[in-house]
Amino acid sequence: MKIGCPKEIKNHEYRVGLTPESVAELVNRGHEVLIETGAGDGIGAADAEYEAAGARLTDVDTVFAEADTIVKVKEPQAVERKRLRPGQTLYTYLHLAPDTEQTKDLIDSGATCIAYETVTDAKGGLPLLRPMSQVAGRMSIQAGAHSLEKAQGGRGMLLGGVPGVAPAKVVVIGGGVVGRNAAQMAVGMGADVTVLDRSHDVLEDIDRQFAGRVHTVYSTATSLDAAVREADLVIGAVLIPGAAAPKLVTRAMLSDMKPGAVIVDVAIDQGGCFETSRPTTHQDPIYEVDGIVHYCVANMPGGVARTSTYALNNATLPHLLRIADLGVKAALERDPHLRAGLNVANGRITCQPVAEAQGLDW
Ligand code: NAD
Repeated sequence: MKIGCPKEIKNHEYRVGLTPESVAELVNRGHEVLIETGAGDGIGAADAEYEAAGARLTDVDTVFAEADTIVKVKEPQAVERKRLRPGQTLYTYLHLAPDTEQTKDLIDSGATCIAYETVTDAKGGLPLLRPMSQVAGRMSIQAGAHSLEKAQGGRGMLLGGVPGVAPAKVVVIGGGVVGRNAAQMAVGMGADVTVLDRSHDVLEDIDRQFAGRVHTVYSTATSLDAAVREADLVIGAVLIPGAAAPKLVTRAMLSDMKPGAVIVDVAIDQGGCFETSRPTTHQDPIYEVDGIVHYCVANMPGGVARTSTYALNNATLPHLLRIADLGVKAALERDPHLRAGLNVANGRITCQPVAEAQGLDW
């Protein structure tokens, strides 16, 4: 099969669909890989590395014209959507539900469109979203620790303290993938960590995983209020699947927090779980409300594009190899989890939540 990987063109997107290592895996199995010149610049993967892995470096027109399957990271932009054609497969994040314009263009393209975010696994998880949650969770502590510095408007606290000085109190709301990865980093830096969740199974798992080094608290309005008042750093990591994040911390609660405390609202991509959150960018990541520092970057993994690209490729490559080896039709027929990722095919929506969100037939 011919696999094509264009350079990402969305504003400030530095990740790339294929690493040189993924290219080598495909080439070793007899597939041809076309990489747009400079596609790996944002992760420090030079054209020569792709060539050494067996790719053919070419221009974007050739990538789209020749490839049977296009591999990307972000949803195709309008100019990319115009290049898609019937018989071609698109394998990337799509996030179609709120995006009517993109949905229409993909329906019109006739291409087979597989969305990373709806591919499932045997445990009922979303394995192609998971690595980005791991990255964001780990990064949230890095971002929070930096924001706690005085020059950023923070309390001027070191997360781990020093001998004779208590560590900072980190409160993580939501103990899922983001929350656990945040807790792991915070524990590693010596902070005093509390995780709140509404799932007993999650709290039990965390208790076991961290062997008592993390306090677990069942999340109610009262327990959350008490934890947030005491916190130096709060990480928002809740998710209610398919819904906007609940506003768990109101503006009124900020006045009970310690001045200079920091909020990192990872759930901002779902609207955020703090009433005062609004999306920010890596260029201008923080702002202050009522003396509390807010970090609300909506695409945190983009800040560590190299790590994120490798983590994403680890998750996307096995399915891509099957698509390449078997052809997309057989790969989809044989694997219900990959099939869950199929969002658009033969000019129709094939994913129920997307269709329902847009009032379309499926
Ligand atoms: P997840 O489903 O693994 O975990 C969410 C957890 O929240 C679950 O354990 C759930 O029980 C818990 N929860 C729900 N309501 C709660 C409440 N009222 N109190 C306490 N806990 C509650 O989800 P995840 O993968 O960890 O993702 C968390 C959020 O981070 C999502 O909104 C996701 O979209 C977002 N995210 C953002 C970025 C970014 O760049 N900003 C990157 C990756 C993920």
